[in-house]
Amino acid sequence: MASDPSSKEEIVVQGIAASQGIAYGQIFVYLQSEVEIPSYQVDPDKRLDEISRFDKALLVTRQQIAKIQDEVEKSLGKNEALIFDAHLLVLEDQALISETIREFETTGKNIETCFDMVSKKYIAAFAEIDDEYLRERAGDIKDVAQRVLQNLLGQARSTLSRLVERRIVVANDLSPSDSAGIDKGSGLAIVTDSGSKTSHAVIVARSMQVPAVVGVRDLTKRVKTGDWALVDGYDGIVILNPSEQTLFRYGKIQSKKKSFEVLLLEANRQSSVTKDGVEVTLMANIERVEEVSLVKEFYAQGVGLFRTEYLFLNSARIPSEQEQFLAYKAVVEGIAPNPVIIRTLDLGGDKPMASDPGLFPKEDNPFMGYRAIRFCLDNQNLFKDQLRAILMASKLGKVRLMYPMISGAEELARANAILEECKVELRERGQAFDEAMEVGAMIEIPSAAATIDILEKQCDFFSVGTNDLIQYMLAIDRGNDRIAHLYEPAHPAVLRTLKRIVDDAHALDVPVSVCGEMAGDPVYAPLLLGLGVDALSMSPPAIPAVKFLVRAMKMSAAKALAKEVLEMTVAKDIYAKCQHFNRLHLPTE
Ligand code: PEP
Ligand code: MG
Repeated sequence: MASDPSSKEEIVVQGIAASQGIAYGQIFVYLQSEVEIPSYQVDPDKRLDEISRFDKALLVTRQQIAKIQDEVEKSLGKNEALIFDAHLLVLEDQALISETIREFETTGKNIETCFDMVSKKYIAAFAEIDDEYLRERAGDIKDVAQRVLQNLLGQARSTLSRLVERRIVVANDLSPSDSAGIDKGSGLAIVTDSGSKTSHAVIVARSMQVPAVVGVRDLTKRVKTGDWALVDGYDGIVILNPSEQTLFRYGKIQSKKKSFEVLLLEANRQSSVTKDGVEVTLMANIERVEEVSLVKEFYAQGVGLFRTEYLFLNSARIPSEQEQFLAYKAVVEGIAPNPVIIRTLDLGGDKPMASDPGLFPKEDNPFMGYRAIRFCLDNQNLFKDQLRAILMASKLGKVRLMYPMISGAEELARANAILEECKVELRERGQAFDEAMEVGAMIEIPSAAATIDILEKQCDFFSVGTNDLIQYMLAIDRGNDRIAHLYEPAHPAVLRTLKRIVDDAHALDVPVSVCGEMAGDPVYAPLLLGLGVDALSMSPPAIPAVKFLVRAMKMSAAKALAKEVLEMTVAKDIYAKCQHFNRLHLPTE
């Protein structure tokens, strides 16, 4: 039964504003954690009961999976539903079941403990196997094992994709694929205990235009499913049990914001030219094929960053070359004649492939670990499938390929050598591709920023990933809410580095774009342009505000702003200067 908001005290909690918008509704608490398993000895008299408890849990799990399979088949189709065949097979696996019972008979420990022990052994063994198909089974076993354990322990399973009513999702943590599933699952807003503005789950929420507030410490412990809340994604505020007055006040704020947005959207149809006649290229960052329509809706001049790893994150298995080709084809043809920059896989960090845990063993420092190009160079078959798929799509429009997380020239040379091998293979197959396809490097590691002149010999363009560049320069984990306030795009070290990247690249006639979140932030976009950046790429809904600024400002004024802040020493003051510039040019709401 839903709580009545008017009967409870209003509580205001502050978090970090992560995605704009206001939402009011009931909360759905989503806890992403592994099941906690109690361990105890079973009374010898109760041993038969324990085994029948196990049989019953297996039966209930089977029924649950069959039901989900049925629902998925109805809503998504037969192929998607086939994934659950593998899950059902796990439940039929005699080795897993009889070994659990043997373990129980030998140790006398409760069946949850025995099943957990045996299933983990199987998961680890499958995760080690070289064969991709068999490795995928580790993910199936893990998922099914969690479900069986929850049934044994009588716990309900929370899944976002099965969220039926529109709810405010309050989670302890959210993976990027969780948040990508939310629009289908009807999320009104997202609130998380942890996270920061540039964590990938938040970037996805922004492109889906779902309001989000992150870093609201322990909120999941203070609320329960069914509670009422108002989420203010502009100021990073969550109001529990909002009063009538609060709702009225927010109603007025919302209508003001709406008319401001309408104004921006109207101006967004115009060209992206400054008052002193300089054309500025504004492109879109996308994560999913379906976002092609957003690119058009917001008049982006192409895709400046296609985060292809989302094809993998939302898939139960690694997509084949052909499956990837079809996805790239849909984007390239949908965006033509404008260009599409397809970034090769940036899995790892906060984006491990959940369905294949064997590929990404747990690391102490995942953001500095086995991620992006490092992972691809180590998994060449998988990398080559992607490169060939991108090459095949290159003949259908204007495609550029870009490698993430490049740290130096050797890595770039190795990636390019593999790309050349793929070209040879395609020529042998008689498969056409764009022989002149440009190749770029993301500049998001300080070592790359310092060696632009060396990298330039092996690529055609640079795109600065400020999200990572800032995290690595300032040693601030971009997903950690405890230190989110120290994540400072206006730090003088960051600005000097950006200037150096642009100057070094331009000295060699190589264009530089920025595709980190800074590019879509109306406070920083003029500064980036003033520093000489050639193009900005951002989540599509961020384009109208940036374009409005571009049309309202003079490039000469942006250059003067850049010159002035480069001489300043305190990030807070630099931010205030940029904010002042923004307010001079953007109408007040
Ligand atoms: C970046 O690091 O700025 C970037 C655009 O890449 P991602 O956010 O996907 O890491
Ligand atoms: Mg990055």
